[in-house]
Amino acid sequence: MGEKHEESNQTMENLNVLQSTQAVIREALDKLGYPESVYELMKEPLRMLTVRIPVRMDDESVKIFTGFRAQHNDAVGPTKGGIRFHPDVTEDEVKALSIWMSLKSGIVDLPYGGGKGGIICDPREMSFRELERLSRGYVRAVSQIVGPSKDIPAPDVFTNSQIMAWMMDEYSRIKEFDSPGFITGKPLVLGGSHGRETATAKGVTICIREAAKKKGIELKGARVIIQGFGNAGSFLAKFMHDAGANVIGISDAYAALYDPNGLDIEYLLDRRDSFGTVTKLFKNTITNAELLESECDILVPAAIENQITAKNAHQIKADIIVEAANGPTTNEATKILTERGVLIVPDVLASAGGVTVSYFEWVQNNQGYYWSEEEVERKLEDILVKSFENVYQTAKSRKIDMRLAAYMVGVRKAAEASRFRGWV
Ligand code: GLU
Repeated sequence: MGEKHEESNQTMENLNVLQSTQAVIREALDKLGYPESVYELMKEPLRMLTVRIPVRMDDESVKIFTGFRAQHNDAVGPTKGGIRFHPDVTEDEVKALSIWMSLKSGIVDLPYGGGKGGIICDPREMSFRELERLSRGYVRAVSQIVGPSKDIPAPDVFTNSQIMAWMMDEYSRIKEFDSPGFITGKPLVLGGSHGRETATAKGVTICIREAAKKKGIELKGARVIIQGFGNAGSFLAKFMHDAGANVIGISDAYAALYDPNGLDIEYLLDRRDSFGTVTKLFKNTITNAELLESECDILVPAAIENQITAKNAHQIKADIIVEAANGPTTNEATKILTERGVLIVPDVLASAGGVTVSYFEWVQNNQGYYWSEEEVERKLEDILVKSFENVYQTAKSRKIDMRLAAYMVGVRKAAEASRFRGWV
């Protein structure tokens, strides 16, 4: 009986990230009083390019990869957002991710619209040179629609500063001028910014600190679980550990580690591979699903979409959930958790530190004048504290959850800019 009930619950819930994003966009625009035409404009990207990329593999065979680039809305300015390399990338996912980038830019008030790219591939099974050929092939395929004042890519899941370097080099060769501002998340020697690598985790840390204050939870000694040990999750584990919190659980794509007495974060950071895999070194592991339901004060999903759903929302023990990943909690789960009094700091706010420092990187590239790490950190701190407060107060005054509040704050700028341009 119980099992059946659970199953029907799961099948009823819509896990399509594009459709669930559209549902919240509609609600946000309705609350802001915009007409239907604005929703019609905002519900899909303005442009979506699908490309096929032939890559010569090391064994001389040729493999054809499929890639995407979505540009959600460029009324405010050029579109901006990362490129994801992952076997599960889909067209709808890339579209939703581009909408989230518009929201992030709106929330932290950057002069950008949202964009996103993705390639269906598994970089864990590709060699260094195969990855280089794929990265360069992708840039050649999308080069007509991207550019420093059109659409500026960046890293995302399983892409890093080396991939950004190849992409910048390929773009600069095609255009025949050095274009560091074409892409962000580059190595420092190629015009990268101090603080970009740790920016997403820094932003999440600021949101955790602010959320803990609101909930009256002392960060020192707080029990923290982080799902995912990639760029966001691993640096976050370090920052939480440094802040005196007790990191009791982490995971990678394969399994999770949980110890109520606290994990040895230094050791885990030292032993993780470049994809964030570390649990293979341990015998005593639990599953990702078990980790999410484990006892803790603060839960940070920092991996992939649809991790907290109607199926497990009732079992979550945390008082605060701060979303470092894009789209980890479904709309249904958000409702259930909010009713239970759990404070959810949504992805479009909590993970906006990355794009914020990407913006700083782009500004520095455009100026040809570079800032110190302290300057970057101070500016990031100012922006995120202000943005958190803005979303929190919007939620409070409207008596809505922070996700809907963040969507309202985030979509307003693109909607207004589209109206002034006479598009709607
Ligand atoms: N991929 C990151 C995100 O989802 C960063 C995007 C950027 O830096 O442009 O926010």
